[in-house]
Amino acid sequence: MSTADRICEFLMRRGGQGFCDDCLRKALRLRNLRPVQQATEALGKSSVYRRETRFCGACGNERLTLWGRNEQKVDVPGPLTTSR
Ligand SMILES: [Zn+2]
Repeated sequence: MSTADRICEFLMRRGGQGFCDDCLRKALRLRNLRPVQQATEALGKSSVYRRETRFCGACGNERLTLWGRNEQKVDVPGPLTTSR
């Protein structure tokens, strides 16, 4: 499992909270920040995540954090759509 995969999984479990590189590094128990930075930079360019200066969900500092892009918009197919 790559560092990026682990970050995705971690963010998913945290339910839409954003975290800075350093807190992600600690959460994943990694020694070096560099691979975390590389992964968050790449993920921030994807359509699923964005990288923004916001308050980190772990340390509470305003930093460059990685967020799920669709955290507020939840598409629930089925029960909530009243097509009938
Ligand atoms: Zn943090």
